[in-house]
Amino acid sequence: MIWFSEMILTNSNSKTLNSRQACRPAPWLWIIFNLSFGFILAGVAGKSVAAVLLNAELKRVEVGQQVEVYEDASGELTISELTQYSIPWQIHTDNVVNKGYSDSAWWIRFQVYNAGPVTDWLLQIAYPVLDDIQIYEVVDGQVRNQWQLGDKYPFAERNVENRNFVVPFLLPEKAQVQLLIRVHSSSSIQVPISFWQPLAFFEDDARNSWFQGGFFGALIIIAVYNLLLFLGLRDVVYLFYVGYVICMALFSAGIGGWAYQYLWPEEQLWNDRILLFVLTLTLFFGMAFSARFVVRFLSHRVNRLQSIAIAVSAVLVVLSLLIDYAQLIQWVVVFSVAVSAWAIFLGVVAWYRKIPAARWYTLSWGILACGVLLLGLSKYGFLPSNRFTNSAIQIGILLEVILLSFALAERIANERALRLRAQQRALEIQRLATLELETRVADRTRELQLANEKLQTLSDTDQLTQLGNRRYLEHFMSREIARAVRYSRVMAVFLIDIDHFKTINDEQGHLVGDDCLQEVALRISTVVRETDLVARYGGEEFCVVLLEPDSKRACDVAERIRRAISDTAINTRGGPVNLTVSIGCCVGIPQGDTPTQAYLEKADTELYHSKHQGRDCIHTAWLGADNSAASIT
Ligand code: GH3
Ligand code: MG
Ligand code: MG
Repeated sequence: MIWFSEMILTNSNSKTLNSRQACRPAPWLWIIFNLSFGFILAGVAGKSVAAVLLNAELKRVEVGQQVEVYEDASGELTISELTQYSIPWQIHTDNVVNKGYSDSAWWIRFQVYNAGPVTDWLLQIAYPVLDDIQIYEVVDGQVRNQWQLGDKYPFAERNVENRNFVVPFLLPEKAQVQLLIRVHSSSSIQVPISFWQPLAFFEDDARNSWFQGGFFGALIIIAVYNLLLFLGLRDVVYLFYVGYVICMALFSAGIGGWAYQYLWPEEQLWNDRILLFVLTLTLFFGMAFSARFVVRFLSHRVNRLQSIAIAVSAVLVVLSLLIDYAQLIQWVVVFSVAVSAWAIFLGVVAWYRKIPAARWYTLSWGILACGVLLLGLSKYGFLPSNRFTNSAIQIGILLEVILLSFALAERIANERALRLRAQQRALEIQRLATLELETRVADRTRELQLANEKLQTLSDTDQLTQLGNRRYLEHFMSREIARAVRYSRVMAVFLIDIDHFKTINDEQGHLVGDDCLQEVALRISTVVRETDLVARYGGEEFCVVLLEPDSKRACDVAERIRRAISDTAINTRGGPVNLTVSIGCCVGIPQGDTPTQAYLEKADTELYHSKHQGRDCIHTAWLGADNSAASIT
């Protein structure tokens, strides 16, 4: 943008140029500018040329419309020829001599009259990139004083150490001299001439240095900071940005004369090349930055065009080191104008498409464009030319760079937010997966538990009668014996055997036998408490375990069982069947060493007694302190 503006502004007066000699980069742009502003440049032919008046009350005197200009296309005219021959001088009509790019040597002449009383003045030409300036002080056709300036001469040779061209100018009070200035330069021919009182000059220079120091300081800090960001984040967009900022700073320093004064005061050749080199490099970094920052979010075709623009700017960078400034500059200007418009256009598109940070990107370019416009308006007289309008581009650059920095910062914030969101999503997915897994595991565990319980029940249950089986009986007894031992509680065990059951099977069949077994089991279960246990001990043998009965109740229960079976015939599929049972009981408080087996054996012995004593009766043994059993009938 800055070069774009510089290049356009240098052509502001090219209307007065001989078209053969003046280079006109970006002609269409020149036409637009001149259509807009050209009318104020209308010639003021016939105006007489007054002397520049120096006066102690004026701190600074600008030389503008008092000058006459002559274009020496051959560049061979000498000062003596110029003073001797009749030369068709042209009256200059604008405030500043501004001839654009030209191979010619340009002569400027004017009279200076000093009204006094200050006699010490400084003559300044404030365009630091002019190659060769010869200043002649002529009195009565004779050269009285002569200065040689320009950046093709070493900086050390300057009369006054300043980024601009400054020479001490002594003029006695009431004296008048003629000054002739010859300018030849591959840069654009801009010759802003002014006279300063020394004190005012240095005061102004100090103020300006303060501003420039701030400007370059800010750019350097931003560049270093973003370089650190690049080293930390490894995102090449920061590197392009740093390159862009540094080149911007170097270009400003080059145009402003600071680079030649402080960076390479001895390197005239390099100083000549550097402007175009950093200018093309700025284009390259600017394009590369845009590509990474905004364009990659846009369509494939836009990206291809951007890549072409980057490639062209890379070629221009190389050419800037090989080809002559004057030959290349017009192409660079055309390209700059095109890519600047392209960059702003892309910014607007990206902003419209709500691409993150695109608005800062667009605003930054817009602000720089405003800076260019402000300077343009002031140069064309629409705005006053003051420190603000003159620094508009630098202010524009600074704001642009700051806004781009802001855009980069917002990009970091955006990416962090995206990362955070992705992390949260990943965590949520992980949490849901864990939850699902846990639920599934819990389901499986529950199913397994149920299956185990079922299996346990199955393995503990007799299928025919649904009573506990022998296995379960033994498990139950060993547990309850331990409890009875601990609390010294009575426990009773009955073994109940159906009498002559084999006969029923034999005579009426096994199914009838099964019906009987089921009914017997049911009847025994209805007699005992829920906490007691009824189990199937063997084929037609059952076992009952009574918990905490007293001995009388134990006998009652046995008797009730016997009667519950014998009193009522059992309804089977083969008709009613009468059954009796023989019961052997073992009742008592178990001791620490009483095994399950002891109970069962004693009960079995008693059952044996019952069988032998005619069946359908009960025999009971008592577990004594010595664990011996006493039988009763
Ligand atoms: P006792 O009075 O001496 O006990 O004579 P009993 O016939 O009952 O005794 P024995 O031990 O001789 O016969 C038991 C019979 O019980 C033999 C067997 O067929 C029958 N039995 C065993 N388990 C089942 C069963 O699950 N279903 C049926 N229907 N009969 C069974
Ligand atoms: Mg039997
Ligand atoms: Mg039996």
